[in-house]
Amino acid sequence: MEPFHAYIIAVDGYSSCGKSTFARLIARELNYVYIDSGAMYRAVALYCLENNLLVGGNPLIEKLREEMKNIIIRFRLNEHTGMQETWLNGKNVEEEIRGIEVSTVVSKISQIREVRSKMVSLQRKIGHNGGVVMDGRDIGTVVFPQAHLKIFMTAEADVRAGRRFKELLEKGMEVGLDEITANIRMRDHEDENRKESPLRKADDAVLLDNSHMTIDQQMEWFRKLWTQIIQRYEH
Ligand code: C5P
Repeated sequence: MEPFHAYIIAVDGYSSCGKSTFARLIARELNYVYIDSGAMYRAVALYCLENNLLVGGNPLIEKLREEMKNIIIRFRLNEHTGMQETWLNGKNVEEEIRGIEVSTVVSKISQIREVRSKMVSLQRKIGHNGGVVMDGRDIGTVVFPQAHLKIFMTAEADVRAGRRFKELLEKGMEVGLDEITANIRMRDHEDENRKESPLRKADDAVLLDNSHMTIDQQMEWFRKLWTQIIQRYEH
């Protein structure tokens, strides 16, 4: 068995329930690399918006399939912030991919088989040596079904919308709470009901409902769980 610094941790769950904050903190604590798989789908969505590959919010699937070979997504470390940032075809798109425009179309794009297979193989390539915390929707079910620890996160929809609203406000993005709530509900529905790798909890994932938990409480919860994982694999 690999030493514990080479483990894979999968954090899946619903939109805007704090997966990335939680996963990032875990990665920092363990000195692992944090990978935001949603950022990859968001980058593809941005590419579609910039290249007229959407009509009425729906992707032109055939055209996008042809274009997939022209979409190059990378993560690069920002040395000032210590965070990984998303680059699309040589351009830093970390800010742009977080806006409501991308959020509105991304779940339609992430349903397309060719998009998923390209992203999944990139995710496996980045994570295969271990020492990673990857968050998304299908990390524990499809990307790394052999992950050493799988966490499935959820929170009440209103709580999630409130958090997202606050986050976008702090970034100076103007958007209404109603619009965010509707977007979250729409993405939950699309993610759960799509044919390709729908969002679902892996049988061996541990559930974390953080509706009424602070981030410190979540980390405390994680530390206890991690102690058990280490014992399971190393004794
Ligand atoms: O995690 P985030 O909300 O940034 O993800 C954006 C969208 O990308 C999700 O709503 C989902 O449609 C898609 N996604 C996915 N599989 C993943 C990660 C994200 O389908 N592993």
